[in-house]
Amino acid sequence: MKKKLISVIIPIFNEYHTISIFINKLSKIISSIKKYNFEIIFINDGSSDKSLDLLLNLKKKFKNIVIIDFSRNFGKESALTAGIDLSKGQAVIPIDVDLQDPPELITKMIKKWETGSLIVAAKRINRKNDNFFKRNSANFFYYLMNLLSNVNISKNVGDFRIMDRVVVDDIKKLNEKNRFMKGLFAWPGYNIEYIEYKRERRVAGSTKFNFFKLTRLAIEGLTSFSTAPLKIISLFGFFGIICSFVLSLIIIYQRLFTEYLVSGYAFLAIIILFFGSVQIFFFGIVGEYIGKIYFEVKNRPHYLIKKIYK
Ligand code: UDP
Ligand code: MG
Repeated sequence: MKKKLISVIIPIFNEYHTISIFINKLSKIISSIKKYNFEIIFINDGSSDKSLDLLLNLKKKFKNIVIIDFSRNFGKESALTAGIDLSKGQAVIPIDVDLQDPPELITKMIKKWETGSLIVAAKRINRKNDNFFKRNSANFFYYLMNLLSNVNISKNVGDFRIMDRVVVDDIKKLNEKNRFMKGLFAWPGYNIEYIEYKRERRVAGSTKFNFFKLTRLAIEGLTSFSTAPLKIISLFGFFGIICSFVLSLIIIYQRLFTEYLVSGYAFLAIIILFFGSVQIFFFGIVGEYIGKIYFEVKNRPHYLIKKIYK
C-alpha cells in the first residue's frame, strides 16, 4: 500500500544561520516515522542572504525538499499561504525554522492526528523568553481578540500545528487579501487538541518581528476578524449626543432661571481638543477598514513565485 504523505511547510526569511541546524533535526525525526512519506516545503520569502543557495544545496542531499522561491519578501503570512496552497499531504504542518517550534513534537502531533483529531496545535507553557512587554501585550491582544471577534483564538498557540487535509481545504477557501494566519487557522473551527511545550530561544539569527511589525499584525488581526471597533464608534457618538443634550438643558436652565453663568476659556479649549482628537482617532479606525477594502478590491495575488524547485 502506498504511504500517506505529510507536508511540512517552513517560511524562510534570511535564515542562513538556522536552516542547516533545523533540517538536521527535522530529518532525524521524520526518518524515524516510517509510516509516512514527507514533503518538506521551504518558502524562501525574498531572503537577501544566502538562504536560497543553502536550500538548493541541501536539496541535493534531501530529495523530498521542495523550494518555493518568492519574487520578493511578502511576509510570513503570505509564505504560509503559499505553503498551504502547494502542499499535497494528507496533513500539513507549518513550523518555524529557528527551532522555537520543537520538531520533536511532530511525532506526538501525528499520533494524535491518527486518532482522529483534525487539528493538533502546540501550546507553549512558558513565555519566560519573552520580555515583560511582549508577554503582556500578547495577553492583551488575545483578550481583545476573543472579546471582539467570533473566532476563538487560543492564547499561547502559534502557527505550529498539524492540520488534516479537510481543514487545509477549508482554509484554502478563505481567499481574503488580509491574511492574519492565526485567525484564518481558527476560523474553520473544529475541535483543537493541544500539546504543551516549553518555548526556547531562537537557535541562531534574530527575530524578524519588531515592535512595529507586531503592532501592525495585531491591528491587522483585530480589524480582519471583527467590526466591533466600528460599533464602538457609534456607541461613543450616541453617548456623546446624550451628554451634550443633557448639558445644554442644564445650561439653558441656568441662563434663564439663575444668576450662575458657565465661564472658562480653559474648559472650552479642553473640550474642543478632546473631541477633535477623538474624531481623528475614529477616522483612523474607519481608515483601517477602508484600507482593507481597498486591498480586497484590487484583488492582487497573495504572492508571486519566481521559481519552484521540486
Ligand atoms: N519569516 C518569513 N517572512 C518574514 C518574516 C519571518 O518567512 O517576513 C519567517 C522566519 O524566517 C521564521 C518564521 O517566519 O521561520 C518566524 O519568524 P521569527 O522567528 O523571526 O518570529 P518570532 O519567533 O520572533 O515571532
Ligand atoms: Mg522565532
